[in-house]
Amino acid sequence: MNFLEERIIKDGIVKPGNVLKVDSFLNHQMDIQLMEEIGREFKRRFADKNITKVMTIEASGIGIACFVAKEFGVPMVFAKKSKSVNISGDVYVAEVESFTHKNTNQVIVSKMFLNNDDHLLIIDDFLANGCALKGLIAIANAAGASVEGLGIVIEKGFQDGGRMIREMGYDLESLAIVDAMDAENGTITFRAQEDK
Ligand code: 5GP
Repeated sequence: MNFLEERIIKDGIVKPGNVLKVDSFLNHQMDIQLMEEIGREFKRRFADKNITKVMTIEASGIGIACFVAKEFGVPMVFAKKSKSVNISGDVYVAEVESFTHKNTNQVIVSKMFLNNDDHLLIIDDFLANGCALKGLIAIANAAGASVEGLGIVIEKGFQDGGRMIREMGYDLESLAIVDAMDAENGTITFRAQEDK
């Protein structure tokens, strides 16, 4: 088990509806030493990529993406949830359906902060059905930026997002892949990952 899998076993809580709660160290209270380790691990896994910017989505990706951006020495930009319909033309827009809140948000990135010279590393906390990542990829494509890789802290391997993103040909790295979890007895099963 890697450092993250060990922490999920120790402090993660399986909720009904295929939700894994990691509020004590990742999604609400954040363990900053663990964030640093996550940042270093993504830097190690994407060491051969020429990254110019890290991109994520509001809200829970932001903290993690900061630590990743610090390792690469590049800025971090996050897609903002926007209530007003944006027709001004100065932003890139994507529709993202929220897995946890079961609603659809329009997310935006200002055209000032993304362009066709950018080589992006996209970061998020969870990967479930892949809507958040697909929205971020759509924004990158609209800007003409290249997506060099995608880094996820916890992938739920029993949902479709990971397979879909890999089939699209993207370099997707997940630090922990949960293949099964059981809300009744609290068990979590990880996919074996070869030593990276
Ligand atoms: P997707 O767009 O891939 O369906 O879902 C990813 C987003 O939903 C992530 O940004 C994350 O915030 C949220 N999410 C999905 N599954 C879980 C989960 O099991 N636990 C938590 N805490 N968030 C999740």
